Amino acid sequence: MKKQYIIPIFVPHLGCPNECTFCNQRKISGQLKPVTENDVRETIEYYLNSFKEKETYKEVAFFGGSFTGIDIETQNKLLGAAYDYIKEKKIDGIRISTRPDYIDKQTLKRLKKYKVKTIELGVQSSNDYVLRKNKRGHTFEDVKKASKLIRWYRFNLGHQMMVGMQDSSSLDDLKTAKDLAKLKPKIVRIYPVLVIKGTELEEEMKAGRYEPLELHQAVERCKEISYFFSSKKINVIRIGLQTTETICSPDKESSEVIAGPYHETFRQLVEAAIYYDTIVEKIKNFNTNVKEVEIRANPQDINNVIGYKRENINKLKEMYDVDVTIVQDIKCPISKIEVKVLRKYKDFKDDKDLIAK
Ligand code: SF4
Repeated sequence: MKKQYIIPIFVPHLGCPNECTFCNQRKISGQLKPVTENDVRETIEYYLNSFKEKETYKEVAFFGGSFTGIDIETQNKLLGAAYDYIKEKKIDGIRISTRPDYIDKQTLKRLKKYKVKTIELGVQSSNDYVLRKNKRGHTFEDVKKASKLIRWYRFNLGHQMMVGMQDSSSLDDLKTAKDLAKLKPKIVRIYPVLVIKGTELEEEMKAGRYEPLELHQAVERCKEISYFFSSKKINVIRIGLQTTETICSPDKESSEVIAGPYHETFRQLVEAAIYYDTIVEKIKNFNTNVKEVEIRANPQDINNVIGYKRENINKLKEMYDVDVTIVQDIKCPISKIEVKVLRKYKDFKDDKDLIAK
């Protein structure tokens, strides 16, 4: 499979009529600059010049939540600017993200003309009560209809869901993943809710009506959901918001994040937690008291095996008194690990007894 490069272009939904409680776009829209065709061209040129490998799949991605909600003339201008590069065979496709209630047949036919390949829907939750509570302004029925139409018109379907919305339990979050899988998305993104400055959610939190997830809770929920999606062969392309100038640690001056499970390597925390479970399961399957193991993994997976700040290695020692030797092995398939027992507890005890004698 060709390596994939994404050319991201953020299109703010200026004048968005919705009031999602976690979003501050309405309040800051006065400070946001509309994106023009020239911006699109400049961004594409900039990225094309910076890509090292030329034989790659290159896609322009219009992010921002509600692409098909902005005025049609602007949409067409932005899409047209990107489409020129498709005609010149300099890029291979376009993806957009939008709301489920901004999808209809006419819109999809228009997007087809510009060779849009992937449409990501901001779903957030499949629970209508949660959607109402967080003022999303659409129902899960809208998601089902939009998803079916998108697939019927042969676009790649993507879903974006949130974890830890107000009044959404871990069971609700997992149920959202299960409901989404039935709609057969090709890709999903999972975003734990962060409390952003100037949002209604900030007020809810300050009034004691919303408690953001702790980091470990968010990791746990995202881990369960990732397991589920991979069991359904659905590709999870992102876990956690991308770090930017404003979406960063609340300790930084420029940060708009007030609270919530922010971590600069959130995805790695989730993946490392998945590896930890796999290691423990393999150790338990040995059905004997294990004292020392060797874990063999592809170099690409080593960081996840070790965990953030050696968390996995330390936890194995603390919880199970198991010592670990890590071996990087290029022949090891990616995402697969081999665990071998180096010493059982009995051998360790015999050695100690011998030394004592
Ligand atoms: S998240 Fe909600 S309020 Fe924010 S831009 Fe999207 S639709 Fe509008």
